[in-house]
Amino acid sequence: MARDVMSVRLGLPQIRVVGVVVDAPERLVVRVASTVRRPKCPHCGMPSSRRHDRRDNKVRDLEVSGRPVTLVWERRRMVCDPCGGRRFCEDHPAFEGRHTARLARRVVADAQAMTVNAAACGHRLGWDAVNSLVVAWAGLVARHRRRRRCRVLLVDETSIRKRHRYVTVLVNGDTGEVLAMVPHPNAQALSGFLASQGHKWCKGVKVVVSDGSAAYKTAIEQRLGHARHVLDRFHVIRWFAAGLTAVRRDVQRRPEGEKPRFDPEVFRARFLLMRRPDTLDDAERARLDSLFAAHPRLKAAWDALGELHGLYLAKDRKGALAALDRFADIYRTGLIPEFSDVVDTFLAWHEQILGWHRAGRPSNGRIDRTNNLLQVLRRKAHGFTNYTNFEARGILLT
Ligand SMILES: [Zn+2]
Repeated sequence: MARDVMSVRLGLPQIRVVGVVVDAPERLVVRVASTVRRPKCPHCGMPSSRRHDRRDNKVRDLEVSGRPVTLVWERRRMVCDPCGGRRFCEDHPAFEGRHTARLARRVVADAQAMTVNAAACGHRLGWDAVNSLVVAWAGLVARHRRRRRCRVLLVDETSIRKRHRYVTVLVNGDTGEVLAMVPHPNAQALSGFLASQGHKWCKGVKVVVSDGSAAYKTAIEQRLGHARHVLDRFHVIRWFAAGLTAVRRDVQRRPEGEKPRFDPEVFRARFLLMRRPDTLDDAERARLDSLFAAHPRLKAAWDALGELHGLYLAKDRKGALAALDRFADIYRTGLIPEFSDVVDTFLAWHEQILGWHRAGRPSNGRIDRTNNLLQVLRRKAHGFTNYTNFEARGILLT
């Protein structure tokens, strides 16, 4: 009777309590066994009723009112006749290695909310035990995610420690889920991931969004030649803005020896200049106008950047091309030679920049969100030294 009550309290399906070994205030040890009559052979799948012997496996379970619980599982070794008398250990869905499945899930959830260290303390487990549970669970999640079709693939890089060792982050653009984090931000790393995903999965990718790294471009051309490759618009806007910054620096410069070394009015307006025209109020507008009256080159650069923004603000490719024409008109005046780098970059990447409209105007917004989460995670953990651990935590974050 007591044993049945204990089985009910344990609440593990297909597990019966054989007896209570230790029932002390500081710990509870319970001997249990599977109620499955004929465990299936993992090799042929046939059930077997021939028992060879039995071994005790210690399994940690959830605490009961602050008391650690250990189960001693009488694990049977069976003989499989169809496999020519081969022996096998039975498996049970309630157990995952040296922990019950429910403890593993709780620990993983806690490790996500806190840190691995905090979860280890909370459950009175070792750091390694908790970490391997997290890594194993993340592996399952990742495998499941990578099997599903990914229409929009986002590729970006992030650092594992601050400005230290980079990893390539791959995100499903439709769901925002991290698919993988590959060591090194280079072509081989990305190529390796795409190769491991197989031909069919790659065929399913219709749009790839990446930053303007040549390494990614190579890998994408090799493996995802059929997909539309688009540059992340925030990276592109940053390139464009560099043109205005170069002009501003030149305009604000004072002759040698003069103090302050730059024209303070121009220098102070550096953040204002970077704002989008439609977000400015009247006072800010007036401030810019008086600056532009004194420095026509600054005005030309600002207008030029505005047209480049127009590439993305346009409703379609036609509108984008019109904005590009207007930019070319300003550039041709020769007032802003500093934009030559911008023009070169644009020429090198025009397909990936202009393709944005036809690709359904995707953005790396999701990956930026993921990146922010990863930075927070990295800070909480005081940096990662191990790629596997970082990837596991990153996968479970999204
Ligand atoms: Zn068998």
